[in-house]
Amino acid sequence: MRRFLAIILCVSLLAIPVRAEAPTKYVALTFDDGPSGRFTRRLLDGLKERDVKATFLLCGYRIKDYGPEARRIAEEGHEIGIHGYSHDSMCAMSQSQATKEILDTAALLPQGVRPVFLRPPGGQCGDGMCQAAKSQGLAVLNWSLDSKDWAIKDARAITERVVGNVQDGDVILMHDMYDSSVDAALAIIDALTEQGYRFVTATELVRLRGAKLQAGEVYCSFP
Ligand SMILES: [Zn+2]
Repeated sequence: MRRFLAIILCVSLLAIPVRAEAPTKYVALTFDDGPSGRFTRRLLDGLKERDVKATFLLCGYRIKDYGPEARRIAEEGHEIGIHGYSHDSMCAMSQSQATKEILDTAALLPQGVRPVFLRPPGGQCGDGMCQAAKSQGLAVLNWSLDSKDWAIKDARAITERVVGNVQDGDVILMHDMYDSSVDAALAIIDALTEQGYRFVTATELVRLRGAKLQAGEVYCSFP
């Protein structure tokens, strides 16, 4: 009888499926148009609490006004890329005009920051911009998921839009320019962390996916 029970037990244990560990899903949160004052500071506080690293695409004219925030972004281990000096569209700029936008911004970046990415304002690409990025050794980073935070300005709606559409390897576009964006970004992190996502910088996402960046090429996601 005991032997029979042991056999039954073994068979039933064999029947329990071994749950395969799901591969980790990674995404990069990217913030354009800053730095700004309290919005950037609130965002940095929330990212630090959650031990999350993000990517900030900074404008030169704003670094002039918000130098301490720019330095804090770098000091806290986030990635910094270039979003142009003036935030004028680079779509129709000549290579020399676009190069000036890049260099004028790079000159204001915190010490030690070596940007990998250029994100043109509005994501608008042109030949001059791509040539300028190539000549400066920068890859062009656009995005695969637009939170539309700049238009929606409602934290819950922004969060639902991102959480409902996100995919592994996404580059998510946001702006550290509004309280609703900051609230949404932190809610997105909390919700997607629950779902097994991890948040990394754009460069880290490239590394994790074994992608090879080429200067002047445009990238939107790293699935
Ligand atoms: Zn922008």
